[in-house]
Amino acid sequence: MKIICIGRNYRDHAKELNNPVPSEPLIFMKPSTALLLEDKPFYHPEFSENIHYELELVIKVLKNGRHVQPKFARDYYEQIALGIDFTARDIQKRCKEKGHPWEKAKGFDHSACLSNFIAFPEHEEKGIDFKLLKNGEEVQVGNSRDMIFDFDYLIQDISKYFKLQIGDLIYTGTPAGVGPVKIGDLLEGYLNGKKLLHCEIK
Ligand code: MG
Repeated sequence: MKIICIGRNYRDHAKELNNPVPSEPLIFMKPSTALLLEDKPFYHPEFSENIHYELELVIKVLKNGRHVQPKFARDYYEQIALGIDFTARDIQKRCKEKGHPWEKAKGFDHSACLSNFIAFPEHEEKGIDFKLLKNGEEVQVGNSRDMIFDFDYLIQDISKYFKLQIGDLIYTGTPAGVGPVKIGDLLEGYLNGKKLLHCEIK
């Protein structure tokens, strides 16, 4: 199982970190040991002074496929979840400055928090609303319609490089409002108004 993540897929988030808006999907991966399931707490690692939350819509791949054609992309997912792409922003900054890979900043243990999956909402044309509350206060609000590269495009693009396999997860990028967490914080994620994700920082 692969955890495939997309960076800078919302214009307002690319802007808030002073990054250019990408012309093709920015793809990176986390190892399977990054998964944090079942509302388990996230233990703040000691190696970072600046762990950020990034709330994201996550789709689960339900077919194997390479070079998926656009017209077939929609057949590759029918469940959605919320995830938090925990990021050690201080380490990421150092990696970026040196031109080094991001794995230490993005793929560390339990950096991929994940809720349960639900069926894809009906009326997909309205997009999917999602938001994150930190200690009861709204910090991130997004809608899937604001993604630069939509789900189908991501399936098509990722599968050019990496064979998609049943059970692979795709974290589809975060909207603006990312920020730090500290011990004692509570993160709660909502999808179309329904609470799906609960994560205490310990
Ligand atoms: Mg992210």
